[in-house]
Amino acid sequence: MADYVIPAPAVVSIPVAGGGAFPVRRVFCVGRNYAEHSREMGSDPDREPPFFFMKPADALLTGDADMPYPAQSKDLHHEMELVIGLSEGGVDIAEADAMRHVWGYAAGLDMTRRDIQNAAKKEGKPWDMGKGFDHSAPIGLMAPAAKVASPGKGLIELKVNGKIRQTSDQSKMIWNIPEMIAYLSRLVRLAPGDLIFTGTPENVAAVQRGDLLEGVVEGVGTVRTRIV
Ligand code: MN
Repeated sequence: MADYVIPAPAVVSIPVAGGGAFPVRRVFCVGRNYAEHSREMGSDPDREPPFFFMKPADALLTGDADMPYPAQSKDLHHEMELVIGLSEGGVDIAEADAMRHVWGYAAGLDMTRRDIQNAAKKEGKPWDMGKGFDHSAPIGLMAPAAKVASPGKGLIELKVNGKIRQTSDQSKMIWNIPEMIAYLSRLVRLAPGDLIFTGTPENVAAVQRGDLLEGVVEGVGTVRTRIV
């Protein structure tokens, strides 16, 4: 045990459906992985290579907790996403071998300070402060992969105050689950506990204080938070 000079941070974890907790190492996020969302953000969705950004693990918000409206933004957007949790890491993981690295899946929200992200894009600056802020990743229970019959297939939907805001099918992801794992493992050595937010379908939009967000990833689970 190291002789830490300040208290060591706690391990961030996600409650597992059926009991236990999934300890989180890093949070990777894929950009523009549904064609219609890519178009609404002004890009050409012609299967450009996947690209990634990150959020700190302690940006995760679990247990249906309220999400405080973040500082320095007037344009907080929802992005409803399927999340992958890895049980095993490695480099140069083959697509054919990728699925056995997955421990489970969750429904998550890649909450985005769109005004800060757009300003960064315009100036060629990093997205971190648009994406990786405190409480920016509400997430539901982790479902063990063994209980998920058809990962990457089925409804993905978000309701805001009971009205459907985003609705699509996970099979519309441009890069599928094994392709994303394989691609990312060529950029970094993946590790147990890493999460991958797999991108959002179209119709991202702003939320306000008081709004109730309820998302579902069919076959996986739900995510719920109120903006306060
Ligand atoms: Mn996203």
